[in-house]
Amino acid sequence: MSRVFNFSAGPAALPLEVLEEAKASLTDLGGSGMSVMEISHRSKAFDTIATEAEADLRELMGISDEYSVLFLQGGATQQFALLPMNLCAPGQSADYLVTGSWSKKAYKTAASVIEPNLVADGAASSYTDVPPMSEWQLNPDAAYFHMCQNETIGGVEFHELPDTGNVPIVCDMSSTILSRPIDVNRFAVIYAGAQKNIGPAGLTIIIARKDLIEKGGENLPPILRYQTQADADSMSNTPPTFAWYLSGLVFKWIKRQGGLQAMGELNKRKSNLLYSAIDGSDFYANPVALPYRSWMNIPFTLAKPELDGQFLAEAEKVGLMNLKGHRSVGGMRASIYNAVSEEAVQALVDFMAEFEKNNA
Ligand SMILES: *Cc1c(COP(=O)(O)O)cnc(C)c1O
Repeated sequence: MSRVFNFSAGPAALPLEVLEEAKASLTDLGGSGMSVMEISHRSKAFDTIATEAEADLRELMGISDEYSVLFLQGGATQQFALLPMNLCAPGQSADYLVTGSWSKKAYKTAASVIEPNLVADGAASSYTDVPPMSEWQLNPDAAYFHMCQNETIGGVEFHELPDTGNVPIVCDMSSTILSRPIDVNRFAVIYAGAQKNIGPAGLTIIIARKDLIEKGGENLPPILRYQTQADADSMSNTPPTFAWYLSGLVFKWIKRQGGLQAMGELNKRKSNLLYSAIDGSDFYANPVALPYRSWMNIPFTLAKPELDGQFLAEAEKVGLMNLKGHRSVGGMRASIYNAVSEEAVQALVDFMAEFEKNNA
């Protein structure tokens, strides 16, 4: 069997060890003669899987009892709508910081539910920089402040959290969750689609302060209310069982790697390696302002964009896959999530040097 180096932005690479483990028990989970996809989500076997996954995630991230952890469907995109529905009192607004495609979509979606307040918009820099805090228009009465910690498409990441006073932070962490230690207590809600840095598509994880979701969304249809799912241990309806199971295996894999501290050190090294290669060359460039450079998604352009196609074709020939940049940005993008090894990044850097030598 041969595996390539996969730089996909999402659904993205998963640890080989985890895939092998899932494969070994795919047709016969723990001697049951059934796969995890063929058993009830209310069975004892699945209950163990679900409970362990939540406990492992709580341990990895240091999530206290003040928070509910939900394992839902619908993707991060659905949360763009559910968040204002659940967290805003009638007539109440929320603050939105727009730093790229995803936070912009979150803002626009919220506008179909509430009248969101646009705190600042990085459009003037083509989303390669974040407007200085001194220019932000914060609303002290906002239900929450929404931000996207890591813009997966533009490669703009916050390495420090802004000070929003008493307004609680709601954060789209789809492409950066579990990449390093964070202080969960600084957030009201953290949410993430699983298919970037957690597990397969189909699962969305929501970590929400209990006091906020308890009182929110009382007039919503029950299935759209976070508290309904919190009361039902995320099983108000059938959860994405396979994705939940596989994500649980990923949590155990991260624990074996040394937890989020070790992940953070590794991810810092990996991103440094690639940024050094880009910055050390006149042929490659990354447009993002230094303090906001992402550890996870690194876009880069070639000095000769007419060679983009050739770059991608030659990269694929040596097993470096999915490096094409998002259609809205162009150029290249290397997504180097937890499951992408240092060896993969080294192979990319070596290839880039070789390509430059032959084509600059
Ligand atoms: C991928 C992504 C989304 C959208 O996720 P879906 O699961 O497709 O809804 C939202 N926000 C960020 C930061 C993402 O990377």
